[in-house]
Amino acid sequence: MENIQNITVIGAGTMGNGIAHTFAQHGYKVFLNDISGSALDKAISTIETNLDRLVAKEKISLEVKTNTLDNIITTVDLKQAVASADLVVEAATENLDLKLKIFKSLDNYCNDNTILATNTSSISITKIATALSNPERLIGMHFMNPVPIMPLVEVIKGYNTSETVLMQIMKLCESISKIPVEVNDYPGFIANRILMPMINEAIESLFQRVAGVKQIDSVMKLGMAHPMGPLQLADFIGLDVCLFILKVMHDGFKNPKYAPCPLLVNMVTAGKLGVKSGEGFYDYSTSRKADQVAKQFS
Ligand code: NAD
Repeated sequence: MENIQNITVIGAGTMGNGIAHTFAQHGYKVFLNDISGSALDKAISTIETNLDRLVAKEKISLEVKTNTLDNIITTVDLKQAVASADLVVEAATENLDLKLKIFKSLDNYCNDNTILATNTSSISITKIATALSNPERLIGMHFMNPVPIMPLVEVIKGYNTSETVLMQIMKLCESISKIPVEVNDYPGFIANRILMPMINEAIESLFQRVAGVKQIDSVMKLGMAHPMGPLQLADFIGLDVCLFILKVMHDGFKNPKYAPCPLLVNMVTAGKLGVKSGEGFYDYSTSRKADQVAKQFS
C-alpha cells in the first residue's frame, strides 16, 4: 500500500515473528522489536526455517526468501524501531498493564499520523486506547496462528477508532493476501467468543466424565470435520491463555455461561499448560512432536 511502507512489529514471539515474516514477504520494510535480544535471534531463525519450508514446497522462490529476510531489521531499541513507522503492530505478551505501558511510549515516540494496531486476542481495544492522546488511531489486528498460513485477520474497531484507519487497515490486509473481517470491540471479539465456550464445554464434558479426552476430540474431528479436537486445540493455544480469555469474557459480560470449568482452573494452577509445558490434555513430555502425538488420537 502506498501510504504504509514501514511497519514495526513489537514482540518477536510466536505471533510477532509470523506477522513480521508476512509483511516482509509482501515487500514491506519491517522493524522487529523485542525487549529480549535472544527472542529476536530466535524469531529470525524461525522465519528462516519457515521460509525454507515454503521454498521446498515451491510456494516461493529463493529470491523471495532472500528479499524477505533483507526486509527485516531487528532491534531492542523501541524508539529507533518506531521513529519512521507508518504502522506499528504490537504483539507483546498478553497483559493489560504491559500493553498500556507500550502504547504510552508509542504515544511519545511515534509521529502523529502513525497508525497503531494491537494483536491482542482478548483485551479491549477501547481500554488499550486510553493510553493514547489520539485514541482514534488505534485498531485491533487479530492475526491467527500460524500467521503466514492462516488467511483471517479479525479487524477490531475500538469505540474511538476512525473510519479512515479502519479502511487503511482493511486494504493493508488484502495487500498481504489476508482476508480481513471487521468486528466491534466486545469481549472475545468473534473468534474467541465462539471458540472458547466450545473449548470450555469440551473440558466440562471431560470433567463430568461424559467421555474421555480421545473420545471428545474424535467426536468433533470425525463428526464436525474439525481438523483438531477442542482439547488438543486448547493444548496448542495454551491452557493459561484459554483461562485468561474465558475470564475476560466472564468479567466483561457478567454471564455465568463463560465461567471457566474448574478442571481448567486446576490444570493451569498445577502448571499443566499444554504443549508449551509438556503436558495438558495430552502428554508432550517426550521428544515426539505434538503432531505425532496427535496422530495416535486421530
Ligand atoms: P509470546 O509469549 O510468544 O511472545 C511475546 C513476546 O513479547 C516475547 O518475545 C516477549 O519477550 C515480548 N515482550 C514482552 N514485553 C515486551 C515489551 N515491553 N516490548 C517488546 N516486546 C516485549 O506471545 P504470543 O503468543 O506471540 O502472543 C503475543 C500477542 O498475540 C498476545 O497479545 C496474544 O494474546 C496475541 N495472540 C496470540 C495468539 C497465539 O496463538 N499465540 C493468537 C492470536 C493473538
